Amino acid sequence: EISIRGLHKSFGDNEVLRGIDLDVAHGEVVCVIGPSGSGKSTLLRCVNLLEEPTKGQVYVGGTEVTDPDVDIDAVRRRIGMVFQQFNLFPHLTVTENLTLPQRRVLRRDRATAARIAAQNLKRVGLAEKADAYPSSLSGGQQQRVAIARALAMGPEVMLFDEPTSALDPELVGDVLAVMRSLADEGMTMMVVTHEMSFAREVADRVVFMDGGVVVEDGEPAQVIGAPRHERTRHFLSRLL
Ligand code: ATP
Ligand code: MG
Repeated sequence: EISIRGLHKSFGDNEVLRGIDLDVAHGEVVCVIGPSGSGKSTLLRCVNLLEEPTKGQVYVGGTEVTDPDVDIDAVRRRIGMVFQQFNLFPHLTVTENLTLPQRRVLRRDRATAARIAAQNLKRVGLAEKADAYPSSLSGGQQQRVAIARALAMGPEVMLFDEPTSALDPELVGDVLAVMRSLADEGMTMMVVTHEMSFAREVADRVVFMDGGVVVEDGEPAQVIGAPRHERTRHFLSRLL
């Protein structure tokens, strides 16, 4: 579903991604771990072209998104992204936050957008918050709204960049539970996270990045439980 080939990204003379090769199959969940500055966010942002790769190819669902002639908006419609910060519109209700992008980007009519919003709020366990404003919700609830907003667009793949890092510890579990149910439904997911128990239990593969390269890529039990590389061991030992 996602194929990354020889991906490089530089900012000026800072080479942040130094040749990444990575595949995420349809329905697969891949967790990306690694130290701060290793290029994890840049990698995700290159997949949906929030950053323009310097070199290499990215394919999503068979389309080369790095093709200069590609319709970037069409590509982005197929990829949902959830960030550490929820980026909800504070002046709009929860439902309006979900219907606005559907109407603007997908040109859905009001009734259809509202119906799909309701379905996806239910999916993240927030049906009863439909008319609430974001400021009245907990951080965990706001993040679940952000996930529902992305899902309402009907993405083929979902990218998560540290979706629980800004949350109070007691709110992390609800967000991870929603992500786990998405994984169970067969969503193709790339998840940058420091939640090792999530990676261990939910991921099909764990990728350890350091210095802009993939150091280790394998089953969670192997990468987290029995890392082959010293750099992976060092990273994990500081985390646990
Ligand atoms: P963290 O765990 O802290 O989120 P990360 O692995 O996500 O780190 P990136 O955010 O991808 O790392 O950043 C990798 C490097 O790229 C850093 O050195 C960062 O300063 C640099 N970088 C990222 N975005 C930009 C940008 N827009 N302009 C210039 N440099 C950037
Ligand atoms: Mg990051």
